[in-house]
Amino acid sequence: MTHSENQSFSIKVLSTGDVFEVPANRTMLHVLYENGYEVPLDCSNGRCGTCKTRYVSGEIDHRDTALTEAEKSEYLTVCVSRALSGQVVLDLATPKSAQPVARPVAIVEAPVCVACLNCVRFCTFGAARIDDSLIGVGGIKGAAHIDKDLCTGCGLCAAACPTGAIEMNINTHDQVIDTIHTLNINTLEQPGATATSTDPLAKVMLFACSQCRATAHQVSEQQNLSPERLANTQVVDVPCSGRIDTLQLMHAFESGADGVMVAGCQPGDCYFNTGNLHAAQRVNRIADWLSDCGLRRDQVKMVNLSPGDSQNLAHGLKELALKVSEIDPGPAQGQRTADQPGTAHA
Ligand code: SF4
Ligand code: SF4
Repeated sequence: MTHSENQSFSIKVLSTGDVFEVPANRTMLHVLYENGYEVPLDCSNGRCGTCKTRYVSGEIDHRDTALTEAEKSEYLTVCVSRALSGQVVLDLATPKSAQPVARPVAIVEAPVCVACLNCVRFCTFGAARIDDSLIGVGGIKGAAHIDKDLCTGCGLCAAACPTGAIEMNINTHDQVIDTIHTLNINTLEQPGATATSTDPLAKVMLFACSQCRATAHQVSEQQNLSPERLANTQVVDVPCSGRIDTLQLMHAFESGADGVMVAGCQPGDCYFNTGNLHAAQRVNRIADWLSDCGLRRDQVKMVNLSPGDSQNLAHGLKELALKVSEIDPGPAQGQRTADQPGTAHA
């Protein structure tokens, strides 16, 4: 259904009595965020159910694929669902303030755009286009424009832009890099309780998308605490595996990781349609670069997970740890200090 086929309707918030109009070309999510109501969200396109909100009256046109039939009698997803009746009443808490809340969207710096169309090709939500009225790099006519109402904030375009013209307003490229270095994988406690006690523990950085995040933290915490562990693992949260660019992966090595893993959904299950496919391509590219600069291509690995598949992730991490524990640190990796067990790699 297109915007032109949508009907406008109103939402009323039970706790405050606030009433807002939802125009045909906008969603309840947009309107709520603009008025200070911060509903938890992840995919923004009806696949995850994170934004499910209780409603107390109204006839709902449920457009998500996340809620069960039983849930639909009580909840709706504010990101895609609409009201068939004139008004829907939502059971939401009073917001801290009426100030607009920022939700993740892509932003273009037109003067840096070369109109390469990468963002248009990567965006499966039709949010990116070239606008002829904008002036791009060197004064050329035409630069990318993002329709913020269609943008889900997945970050695929930002990872694909060759000039850095696209940036996310939340979880920016620099913030991801800062997170990688702030985790400071070199200072992890390594008591040396490994399977073979004289071996140092490998250091693994695990990037996890929103669907794999809970499993990633659970497995890494379990493994880090186990006396049988082979690696210490740190997790970097990203909205989608397709948000991870090659520079971010190289920064993981530069920060001292012996191995890097990207956890994404199974093919066909990505909340953002193709993010996991692009992530797999980047992992392969990094593997080629690693071998070009004297490291080993099997120091980087992609694992595709079904929700809650801790067994597959634990197995993948173990395999990676075993491989990287045989590897000498190369030029892209951070220096280890003499009193760290990992020095034995050198
Ligand atoms: S962040 Fe995702 S949805 Fe938004 S413009 Fe970029 S690719 Fe499209
Ligand atoms: S990917 Fe970057 S350079 Fe290419 S059109 Fe989009 S914003 Fe411009």
